Amino acid sequence: MVVYYLSRLKLQALLRLENFYVAWAIKTKSTQMKHEDDFEANLAGDEGTSEESKTSWFKRIKKGILTSTAEKKEAPEGLWTKCPSCNYICTVTELRENLFVCPKCNHHHRIGSSEYFDILFNDGEYEVFYENIRSKDFLHFTDLKSYQQRLEETWEKTDITDSIRIAAGNVKDHHLVVGSMDFEFIGGSLGSVMGERISRAIDLCLERQSPLLIICKSGGARMMESAFSLMQLAKVSGKLSQLTDAKIPYISLLTDPSFGGISASFGMLGDLNIAEPGALIGFAGPRVIKETIKKDLPEGFQRSEFLLEHGFLDFIVNRKELKEKVATLLTLFKN
Ligand SMILES: [Zn+2]
Repeated sequence: MVVYYLSRLKLQALLRLENFYVAWAIKTKSTQMKHEDDFEANLAGDEGTSEESKTSWFKRIKKGILTSTAEKKEAPEGLWTKCPSCNYICTVTELRENLFVCPKCNHHHRIGSSEYFDILFNDGEYEVFYENIRSKDFLHFTDLKSYQQRLEETWEKTDITDSIRIAAGNVKDHHLVVGSMDFEFIGGSLGSVMGERISRAIDLCLERQSPLLIICKSGGARMMESAFSLMQLAKVSGKLSQLTDAKIPYISLLTDPSFGGISASFGMLGDLNIAEPGALIGFAGPRVIKETIKKDLPEGFQRSEFLLEHGFLDFIVNRKELKEKVATLLTLFKN
């Protein structure tokens, strides 16, 4: 009898221990995932999506549901989309036809390089260059995961080879070389590949006597490349002076968002610096500035309208008029 009780007690203790271990393992894993989500969101310039960073309306009380944001099944592309500015709901097809500008409030949705190329070039025909230049993890940089792993995952996830793509084609009657950034590739960050691609694009401009347009959409320098990333500021700025010497125009189009090393160098070095309506443009973000100076910022601070008023920009261009305006500018430069 005694033996029976003892063995039962042992069994219960064991079961309790196992339960405790499982609960601990689940907790550690979900905290780790939360941190990863927040880190990714930070890179992309968004606010965190985990429960910790946002006061949520619903709390997960039931222990069984443990799907992290990364594992959630995405709804198929298409069907419906909601404007983040006015909550207007329309189909993706309708939005696409409207060049990703909200039909109701004129909010310019963030789009990638292929969309810009389609908007700009006649009949959507263009040549893409330097796709073979790829990033490398020279510093063996590791944050939550190694830079090499981050790169490989992004390549797999996006089909984009780096944060800028260079294309050349005709815009109305003009030949134009365009570099357009993709925010989904590590926040459109400026790394050595972006620097090299822009500098080769400038060589292409010199060779073809073609003007250059760079469409900026970036959070700034790529921290995983550290000093190599910062060197690109000087490199591109230096190369741009060759365009000036050859009297070839360079237009910089700043879109939402353009920050850090981009706005601190070639983003603001255009013969014309233009921007899309309502784009956030600056060096440090509003949150950082507010925390540093401990004061509330004026309304519309760092938006393109604010910058235009303060003399940073030449004009603001609606996406629907972009092609027309660029073609007019190129005609004016030619004469
Ligand atoms: Zn809207």
